[in-house]
Parts: sequence; C-alpha cells; structure tokens
Amino acid sequence: MNLEEIIEIDKEHFMPVYSGRYPLVVDHAEGVKIYDIDGKEYYDFLAGIGVNALGYGHKKFVKAVKDQTDKIIHCSNLYYTEAQAELEKKLAENSCFNKMFFSNSGSEANEGAIKLVRKYYKVKGEDRYEIITADRSFHGRTLTTVTATGQEKYKKPFTPLPPGFKTVPYNNFKALKEAITEKTAAIMLEPIQGEGGIYPADQEYLVEIRNLCNKMGIILVFDEVQCGIGRTGSLFAYQEYSVEPDIITLAKALGGGIPIGAFLAKKEVADTFSPGDHGTTFGGNPLAARAASTILDIILEDGFLESVREKGKYFQSILQELIKKHDDLIEVRGMGLMLALQLSDKLSAKVITMELFEKGFLVNAVQEHALRFLPPLVIGKEDIDKLVGALEEILK
Ligand code: PLP
Repeated sequence: MNLEEIIEIDKEHFMPVYSGRYPLVVDHAEGVKIYDIDGKEYYDFLAGIGVNALGYGHKKFVKAVKDQTDKIIHCSNLYYTEAQAELEKKLAENSCFNKMFFSNSGSEANEGAIKLVRKYYKVKGEDRYEIITADRSFHGRTLTTVTATGQEKYKKPFTPLPPGFKTVPYNNFKALKEAITEKTAAIMLEPIQGEGGIYPADQEYLVEIRNLCNKMGIILVFDEVQCGIGRTGSLFAYQEYSVEPDIITLAKALGGGIPIGAFLAKKEVADTFSPGDHGTTFGGNPLAARAASTILDIILEDGFLESVREKGKYFQSILQELIKKHDDLIEVRGMGLMLALQLSDKLSAKVITMELFEKGFLVNAVQEHALRFLPPLVIGKEDIDKLVGALEEILK
C-alpha cells in the first residue's frame, strides 16, 4: 500500500479523533531515526510522545523482549511471574515507594491512584474524596482522568462528569491553599506539566505543598507519566525536587514501547486496598514487566542519567543562543530532555513543525505557539545540533 491508499483506508475506518496526523507512514526505525515506507528518514525528537526512551533497536532491550517473547508473553495476574517480581523489586529499590500496581497506560495508572485515594479515606472513616488538580494539567482520557485534567477542551464534550474534582492555577500556592476544604483528599500534580506546554513546578511551590499535605493529612500524588523514568535526568522527577509524594503514577517510557503503566504508593496508603478492590487482565504481564525491568537496568547504568542531564543542558543552551538571534522566540522551558520552545504569537507552532517535518525532523506543536522536544534519551549532541540548525534555517 502507498501513502495515499493508507490515508484513504484510515479516513474510511478509523474514528475521527486524530485531526492532525502527519502524511507519514512509519515503516521501521533505528537509533533515533524513523524511516517511512519510501525510505525517507526522520530524526525523532518526540520519541512516541516520551515513550521510546532508548530510541529504536537498542540491542539489550530488544534481546530481553525477544527472549521473553520466546518464554511467555502473557499470563493472568492470578499467577506470579519472576519478571513482575523483578520489576517490583527494582522500582522499590530505586524509589521511596514499597508498594505498586501495574496497569497498561498512564490514564489507568491515574485512575487507579484516584481509587486508592478514595479507599484510603473510606478505611480511615473520613468523608474526604475531593481531589485538587492544576489548570493546564493532563491526566488522561478516561472519564475520571479527563475530569482531573485541567483543560476544558478535553472534558466539555463529555458532561456530566464524575464529581469530586476541582482545578486551581499551577505554581500558585495561595490559590491552592484557598481551595482546600474539609473534603480535600488529595492534591494531584505533574511536577513538570507536559501536554500543557512543558511547565516545571517551582521548587518552593512543591515544598510548600508537601508541608501543607503533611499538616492537613492530604495525600500528594505526582503524575510522572510523562516526566518520569529518566526524562529529567533523574529516574523520577520528584528526586530533582527532593519532594516525595505519597503516590506516583508512571507509564510511557516505563515499557520503552511495550504498554505498561504503574502507580506506586507508600505502604500506609497502599495497604488500604483490599483483595478485589482493583485488578487488570493485561497490566504488568511478563512481556511488559520484562521490558520495564530492562529499561530500568539500562537507565540506571553508570553515566546514563548524567548524560541525559548534560545533553538537556546543552540543548537548552543552544536554544537560548537561538532566542538571542530571533525576536519571535520567547523562552525555553523544561528540564533534562523534556523541553519546550515558546514562540511569539506571530509564529505558529504547527507551521514550524510541518516545515521541520519536510526537512526530516519530528517535533510536536504542544500548544499553538510552543514547540515540544521529547527526544529519545539516547539522542546525540550532533543530532541536537542538526535539529537546531534546521530550525534556524526555517526562521531566517
Ligand atoms: N498523564 C500525563 C502527564 C500524560 O502526559 C499522559 C499522556 O500524555 C497521561 C497521563 C495519559 O497517559 P496514556 O495516554 O498512556 O493513557
């Protein structure tokens, strides 16, 4: 099939929810490059929206997935597997959490975390259920996580929405404090907002929130679906801030492309779940668990996270140089290899993204006037130079 035939079939049969699909039929990928069906190559600066942390064809990762596929791909959660136990051990050893649950996606991880918050207060015998989230946040597409999401466009078509959620401006501690009532059960935040346009939380903001939660017995949930698993240069973004949440949610890069999500919690919170409270058919099956376990092994190898931090700083610095030369570039935001370039109102992120696409670079227009970069964590400085060079040519 050629490009036109594939687009035609998709138009006929796929639900019309992805408005801006690029005219690209992905065939295969290697390293940090994706190839289309005609052999044209693209530098991937989006990594499947933060999923393909190791890029494509990483030898150790592919071997582990192949070995596991030969052994067993799936078995029910009615049974134990070594792959899942290994993953549990590695996540526990490298985080501040000792209990976890595996799902298939970020939405499901958040959904599970929300259920756990509700259950915690039921067990405590307190009538607290309300969860405060932030404007511009994104927490998923299920009815509950879309309600938690602080962007009207995602929820408006689906009212009535489940009760028990309210949003407040991000990085505004006063507004958050004022929103708290006797019903407040949890505060749920992305330490770095992703879909909202790459906005990192202020250090002081998270510290104040942690102290407030301690004082008022409120659960703090960090959604690290996008910013977790090495993206910031630490395994978890909360480690960059030295602020520990009570629950963390993960997905995306955790499986390096094999679908898996997770929510991890402190024991005191997690142990309020009882048998039957939660479950899944696929979540954490041996293939996904082995993939995630291997991702952790690689990301935690000596020097890996340091290199993410270093490349992130380099990327930021050359974008800063570009900003100095162009009045219509406003600022760089982000941490590690999770960055956005804010454009002035005169520049459309979609148009620039399309021009970069023509030149063989995949980036994302995360907002109308903001470009998002989430490259594979194994991206090279020379690849970053090429992208910024292409951007500079476009801006001339
Ligand atoms: N939370 C955050 C911060 C996300 O960025 C996303 C997806 O972009 C989700 C949750 C939802 O994850 P998924 O698409 O795997 O359901």
